[in-house]
This record gives sequence, C-alpha cells and structure tokens, in this order.
Amino acid sequence: LIRIPSVNPPGDEREVADFVVSELEQVGIDVRVQHVKRKRPNVIGIVDQISEKHGLMLNAHMDTVQACDGWSIDPFKGRIKSGRLYGLGACDMKGALASMICAAKALKRSRIQLKSGFLLTAVVDEEVGQTGARALVADAVTAGSAVVGESTDMAIGVAHKGLLRIEIKTVGRAAHGSVPGLGINAIEKSARVLALLQDVRKNVCSTSHVSLGKAIMNIGVIQGGIAANIVPDSCKIEVDFRTLPSQSAETILAEINSRLEKLRKIDSRFHAHAKILKLLEPMEISRNQDIVQALSAAIMTIAHKRARIAGLPYWTDASTLVNVGLIPTAVCGPGRVEGGHEPDEWIGLRALVDATKVYATAAFYMCKDLEQSDSSPKSKHLV
Ligand SMILES: [Zn+2]
Repeated sequence: LIRIPSVNPPGDEREVADFVVSELEQVGIDVRVQHVKRKRPNVIGIVDQISEKHGLMLNAHMDTVQACDGWSIDPFKGRIKSGRLYGLGACDMKGALASMICAAKALKRSRIQLKSGFLLTAVVDEEVGQTGARALVADAVTAGSAVVGESTDMAIGVAHKGLLRIEIKTVGRAAHGSVPGLGINAIEKSARVLALLQDVRKNVCSTSHVSLGKAIMNIGVIQGGIAANIVPDSCKIEVDFRTLPSQSAETILAEINSRLEKLRKIDSRFHAHAKILKLLEPMEISRNQDIVQALSAAIMTIAHKRARIAGLPYWTDASTLVNVGLIPTAVCGPGRVEGGHEPDEWIGLRALVDATKVYATAAFYMCKDLEQSDSSPKSKHLV
C-alpha cells in the first residue's frame, strides 16, 4: 500500500483502490466500487450479505498527505526495520487499512456463520475534502455500527472536536491618507472586532467536555490595507474554532453577528459581517454503544488489557458517519496518535497484527448469531 502513492492533494486513489479490490476478491468477498468523482473511487467490500442490514462497517481512508520535509528515507519504499514499517501513510492510515483488509479476509476464510454481514469501506479524500465518506452515506451505505481506523494506539475514541472557521470582514471607505476624514478606516474599525472576539472566546471556550476539555479559539489571519498612505477600505479577520459536540456553528455565528449588530447600532460608520468559511462537525457517541463494548471485549481478548476510552485531538471521517450517516462509530486504530503527518512515519508490525485480530474479533462480536452462540461480547476467552 505504501508503494502505491495516493497523495492528496492532488488526490488519485485509483491504484490503491485496485489493490484493495484485488485483495478482497482473492477470497471471494463481493466488491462494489463507488465513483465519487474523477480518479476518486471508494471501495466497498461486502463480507457475507446475509440480511438487509450489515452489523458493522470497518472504515479506512486510502489517501495520504504530502510527504513533509525531513524524511531520511524514501517515503514510498515501505522499508521494514527493527519491527517497524516506515513509509508515507504507514500510520495515517494505510496500516489500519491493511489490518482491516486482513481481518475481513480472515473472517471470510474462517467460514464462521455470521448473523449479519459486514462492510469494509476504503474511502478517498479524507485529508482534504472528506468527499469519500460523504459519498458513502449519501449513497445509503450503512451498518449497525462502524469503526474508523485512525491511529489511537488502540484506545477507543468516542468523541472529537469539530472545526469551524469564520471570516469577519469589516468594510470601510478608501481615501487618501492625507485626508483620512473623507474615508472610513476598516483596519481601525477591525480593532473593535478583535475586542468583540475576546468576549466571544469567554463564552465559547468556557464550558468543558469530559474527554475533550474546552473549545479553542484562535485568531489566525488579519488582512487589510494596500499602502500606508491610503485609508483601507476593507479588513478581513479569520478565526478558527475547535468546537465541542454540544456546540453548534450556527449558534457561534449568531453570537458574533449579534455583537457586530450592537456595534453598528452605536457607530453608524461601522460595517462588518461574518460568514462560515469551513465547517467540520464534532463527533460524539455514548460509551454504552455496542461497538464500544465489542471493541473493549476484543481488546481484552487479544491484548489482555482494559481498553482506554478517549476523546481525540483530531477530526476524522467518523464525524460524517455519526452526524450524517447516523451510524454509531468509534475511532480505533494502531499507531501513535501523533505518528502521521511527520517525517519517517512508521507503524509497529506487532501493532498491525494486534489491530487485525481486534478488528476481526470485534466484527465477529458485532455480527455473530446471538441465538446460536454463548459467547457474549463480555467473554474474555474467545478466539
Ligand atoms: Zn487519517
């Protein structure tokens, strides 16, 4: 997988998709290819379609970020050294994709009778546009639960923050710098926006989430003016919020707009408006969901330890599966959380094997015939 580049941008997952298809077809797993857009195919492996509803979806993305500076080895070589596999995407997240493929193949080969089938979905474009996961749910590809295999060091991620980027543009009137009274200085007016944002921060970033901590606000861009002798007619501020599951983008935008409106009422020369530039919804599921129980039991069975339930510092496709697809989804994958997007990215071979066993065991728990089997997800001694 590492030797097949799928760098995004620009984004072209066709060869990785072909590889996934051939791996799954080798053992007789039915495969559907969903064309998301040009050069961007999602792969949907269907392991034993028994009933209408699939018990589980194992989900991984096929794209990688670009190789950053500082690699000491070829990022596309896939070199194995001292129990580690090095390469671009090893950790984020071709490692988990390989584990999921092997888990699906193992269950298919085992001929264990499952009560419901399960899906393996390898999607495009997680790193940039998130169009792959969205296309899945738009096409009603669904399951009772899902696992997204982003690196968590096999902790079970039940929540992550959202991302909300808002632009506030202050509009003034241009004039020569020698007669500023004829214009309206948009940069000076923007100073009020900066002050207002401090009040917004107090509100938005005060509540705390049990596993995610507080929301974050960062003023990251301020742009305005073209020359020192011209009164600037516009000034743009960009603010980045990392939001909690309880917070909505509309509420935050409405708060900013109502504060801007108040400023306008006391200063008729103040004109500013806010708009959403980017929105990725936060994600949260209950710790009591079946998928959390199944993964916990699988981790106990395979690794003989209690799984850690966690909030995650980064955004994942689980947001789309949960918020749009309404599929209870946990994030659980091999590798260090901070392992992706850095030079000499690697994943431990042992971690890959363990993850494979955990995915297969969890899939078994989620899809087995409850009436015919005694082994509940609480059992510690299966497989
Ligand atoms: Zn990823």
